[in-house]
Amino acid sequence: MNIGILGGGQLGRMLALAGYPLGFRFRCFDPSPEAVAGHVMPLTVGSFEDLDALTAFATGLDLVTFEFENVPVWSAECLAQKVPLYPSPMALAMSQDRVEEKTFFQSMNIPTAPFAPVNSRTDFETALQNLGLPAVLKTCRLGYDGKGQYVLQTVADIEPAWSKLQGVPLILEGFVAFEREVSILAARSTRGETVFYPLVENKHTGGILQSSRVTAPASTSELQRLAQNYALKTMEALEYTGVLAIEFFQCGKELIVNEMAPRVHNSGHWSIEGACTSQFANHLRATTGLPLGSTKVTNHVGMKNILGQIPSLEKLLAQATDQVQLYVHLYGKKPLPGRKLGHITMLSKDAGSLESVMTTDWTELS
Ligand code: AMP
Repeated sequence: MNIGILGGGQLGRMLALAGYPLGFRFRCFDPSPEAVAGHVMPLTVGSFEDLDALTAFATGLDLVTFEFENVPVWSAECLAQKVPLYPSPMALAMSQDRVEEKTFFQSMNIPTAPFAPVNSRTDFETALQNLGLPAVLKTCRLGYDGKGQYVLQTVADIEPAWSKLQGVPLILEGFVAFEREVSILAARSTRGETVFYPLVENKHTGGILQSSRVTAPASTSELQRLAQNYALKTMEALEYTGVLAIEFFQCGKELIVNEMAPRVHNSGHWSIEGACTSQFANHLRATTGLPLGSTKVTNHVGMKNILGQIPSLEKLLAQATDQVQLYVHLYGKKPLPGRKLGHITMLSKDAGSLESVMTTDWTELS
């Protein structure tokens, strides 16, 4: 199997690393010659708008997938006519526009924050009147890791946010007073088989994921069933193939969708060592039509991102004990403030030991 990956970041890199034991071969496509997936597979440097370059890239491939959801939909559609492309361009399109995405979830009776599209100042005034404050003003497209959005707590926040974001399609969302943020990862194969990972609790700072923790034992809980039901409905509606991530706000027994990602996801990195089959392996099994692997979790599991600077590997690895195993993943990226440079997965048989290692400040180990 020759598999092409659109995007050459850490997600593509981890996909390939999961696929080599199955004998798959990979190549990736990215606009940057520095793309870190290029360390582990051939990298084609080109623009996602350059159809000739994309077609040349796809020649000889058995399938193409993506690890970056801002690939232009028309490029994906053209590519999909030449080679199987999973997930489908339809799923890609749905995830690229916050208004379309929320409208889609509401059409399936899956709750979202109240929202209104904002394409003019008049729309903005009307949306503010209808939704009230606090609210969140976001760009409809191309936002990630909390970029392109402002929380409007008071009237004083309205003008600064408007002047920063106006000029592109926007969305105003009612502020959800959530208890915690959770996400589910699910996979659906070309054969229609589905599997679900346990819900994880995610902690963000400044919109960037800091840590994820499996909410074990979650597989039997009502909340898990609800999340699975929402993920299943979504995958069936999109005739989805591959791994899908859905991020929720939890309010009591309710789950309110924040957004979905039609790809492997940072909140599933723990599954490399923490589940019987990782999200990366299941994405590859799903897209190549192989049987999906068990998502069973046998330990207490947590994952912390390494952001901005890399702690000393020596000091980091020395934190492991008989009670807590540590797995360090570095992506080979140049350190920059706030940049995702790697992650650490922690496994323990007891919740207390995991808790203490999860709350360790790794930056002190630099
Ligand atoms: P997003 O880019 O939509 O994933 O938003 C980044 C983070 O901002 C989320 O993980 C939440 O912590 C916060 N956030 C986004 N939208 C809302 C909302 N409508 N209500 C409350 N918090 C939000």
